[in-house]
Amino acid sequence: MNFGERCFFVVISMHGHIIHKDMWSDTFWDWVAKNYAMAFGIPKEVCAQQLLPQVWGFNADAYIKVMETAGIDKALIMGVDWGMSVAGEAKWSVEEMNKWVAKQADQYPDKLAALCAVDPRRGEKAIKLVVKAVEEWGMKGVKFHPTAGYYPDDRKYFPLYEKCVELDVPLHSHTAALINAPMESKYADPIHLDSVAANFPELKIIQIHFGGLNWNLKCIEIMTARANVYAEISGHQVAAAGMPQYWLTTLRNALNIPALLGPSLKERIMFGTDSPLITTVMGDDAWVNWIKNIPEKAKEYSLNFTQEEVNKILSENAKRILKL
Ligand SMILES: [Zn+2]
Repeated sequence: MNFGERCFFVVISMHGHIIHKDMWSDTFWDWVAKNYAMAFGIPKEVCAQQLLPQVWGFNADAYIKVMETAGIDKALIMGVDWGMSVAGEAKWSVEEMNKWVAKQADQYPDKLAALCAVDPRRGEKAIKLVVKAVEEWGMKGVKFHPTAGYYPDDRKYFPLYEKCVELDVPLHSHTAALINAPMESKYADPIHLDSVAANFPELKIIQIHFGGLNWNLKCIEIMTARANVYAEISGHQVAAAGMPQYWLTTLRNALNIPALLGPSLKERIMFGTDSPLITTVMGDDAWVNWIKNIPEKAKEYSLNFTQEEVNKILSENAKRILKL
């Protein structure tokens, strides 16, 4: 069955990062070292001297190796624009960061595609960057991390959304309390995407992390009312590992719920890893296998999932929605 199995599952990850030291500020890296130190119970200096250099080497070559081990066929990669946050601007400009990500993805055109990470507070500059990223560098959409300190539903950002519609690219926005201090989660509440979805029905909006635990039901509710809103499950390794029955029950309910508008949620939930950031909880290979084995695992909790539903999550929805 090995041959059949490999062919049967196509896996597309909607979310991953490649990392370069100069894309984020020294202040940011200092926080990362501090957070690692707290998480692993080791001195901050050890993190700064030994762990960070490993993270900084996580380029497309390293990413591809992780994908090969995990059996991931295609992935979207992205930076994060922390420049307008309290972390401050990095050595590289936001344009240099995105160009680097795009060029890294270009090395593996069959396997990688990239999103343009930008903070909408950059105004006209953000719009110009997105146009260049899409038209010149072939980037596939826009990535927001509102925890940098903004609510996406501010009308000041509407011209950016108009441009996304014009360019026919989606907006991927972080929706979870999955962020290290000193960034604040409140900005990532998915309710701030609902107004964007309501005002721009032609804009595809992907709720990154599917609301995490706290906002998961809110994401589901928004999707039932807005046909242009989607979700990806990167980061859910944490909930799946820690509370599998709850997580599977919620997923089952999400797939069952009738959408008031638009296609069923079965057609709108996609796989993702957020590699390399969640790998301390669960490696990408384990996460891919976890999802592949849902029909079997769910039986333990008297839940039924079909292989067809799993395939939609693993790749078919991403192929159809994002043409990946
Ligand atoms: Zn991420």
